[in-house]
Amino acid sequence: MSDPDADNAPSQNDTEQPHAGRPAGARQEPPASKGRRGGRAGQRQSKAWRVEDFAVPEKEGFTRFHDLDLPEPLMQAIADLGFEYCSPIQAEVLPHTLDGYDAVGKAQTGTGKTAAFLLAAMNELLQNPFEEERFLAEPRVVVLAPTRELVMQIAKDAVDLAKYTDLQVHTLVGGMDYGKQLQRMQSRVCDIVAATPGRLIDFISRGDISLGYVEVLVLDEADRMLDMGFLPQVRRVVRATPHREQRQTMLFSATFNYDVNVMIESWMVDPVRVEIEPESIAADSVDQRIYMVSSREKFKVLKNILASEEAGSVIIFANRRDQTRRLFERLQKAGVNCGMLSGEIAQHKRTRTLEQFKNGQIKVLVATDVAGRGIHIDDITHVVNYNLPEDPEDYVHRIGRTGRAGSKGISISLACEDDAFMLPDIEELLGQKLVCEQPPEVIEE
Ligand code: AMP
Repeated sequence: MSDPDADNAPSQNDTEQPHAGRPAGARQEPPASKGRRGGRAGQRQSKAWRVEDFAVPEKEGFTRFHDLDLPEPLMQAIADLGFEYCSPIQAEVLPHTLDGYDAVGKAQTGTGKTAAFLLAAMNELLQNPFEEERFLAEPRVVVLAPTRELVMQIAKDAVDLAKYTDLQVHTLVGGMDYGKQLQRMQSRVCDIVAATPGRLIDFISRGDISLGYVEVLVLDEADRMLDMGFLPQVRRVVRATPHREQRQTMLFSATFNYDVNVMIESWMVDPVRVEIEPESIAADSVDQRIYMVSSREKFKVLKNILASEEAGSVIIFANRRDQTRRLFERLQKAGVNCGMLSGEIAQHKRTRTLEQFKNGQIKVLVATDVAGRGIHIDDITHVVNYNLPEDPEDYVHRIGRTGRAGSKGISISLACEDDAFMLPDIEELLGQKLVCEQPPEVIEE
């Protein structure tokens, strides 16, 4: 078992020298942006906006963002994003992290954990503006995550939340042009850097970034970083930041094994611990329907669903890649504007398809389970199970794509003679009976 070194070894505090390790030639031309950043939360917030404009009624059992005393620019961004009440992890963790405490969250993607750690980090930056001369390439917040996609998503969420502030977000990920990332790092201050461990180490090794002034460190999906063999890099990153007593550390992980626990022991100070159930099973916000159909009818029933008025954004799951492709081709032939997400599609194409789905250019996505797990989009109205999944847990994951973030969703499973036998296992996992019904319209061959 590997054992991340504690970061309280004496050498840790070597970074205490003022401006030690600053990348050569990285001194920022001070005046303009120094003054600009001086005020509390300083910012681009439009003058007309007031938090009173963002009325959210109190609701029993829910925490409003209003209850957290966040800086106004963050409230305005939250209002723009359409968030009203904190998600469970936000409600549980923010009261502690906003006060500067360390936190460990057992939570998966989809729980709102990104906004949870970003809001705490941004609050810290805005409440304690940097009064001294700023240097380039000296982030105040570092977020480490295992994959490029996740880092890009975090950075996007950060930009959205920082919209009415001057906070600058940088992204350092492998597989993308080092020079461009460096050029950006050398041309504007860096408040928040979201990075994969390998690329951040490259920056540190070449003296292109200094973590000596980091105030907040976030380790996201810690278990996956370990699974992917990133422990040595993560450890180096942590050691390049100030001592754990001098920074706030937040760690999120879906699972906790020995190594994750050693990380927590070594790198954190009395963290609060919050545990959020993954996709609460059979979310109440999803209306689950099971249509009994023959396999010959399935495609027609599907087309009826897609043609129905209530269908907005729809994800259709099939069980295998070949089934997914065939269904996608059949839908295209039938004139349905759709995209496909499966392991056989190149990553860049998947990213583009997902983008088109998010912005509404494509209304229908056909996906496999694995590709579908990466989809975290609000406002998906329908999930259709063209085949029932062989693993009941996949059923829960699939229907969890809809009914998110406070909205209602519909899942429709087309159970035919080939897959209806899987229903009892799904019902057992859900702990509830699923009512089977005839599809609403008479299907003619
Ligand atoms: P995450 O778990 O960070 O990937 O977040 C999942 C999704 O929930 C993202 O699309 C967020 O924009 C959204 N989200 C986060 N917090 C809230 C909230 N309090 N209310 C509504 N949506 C939210």
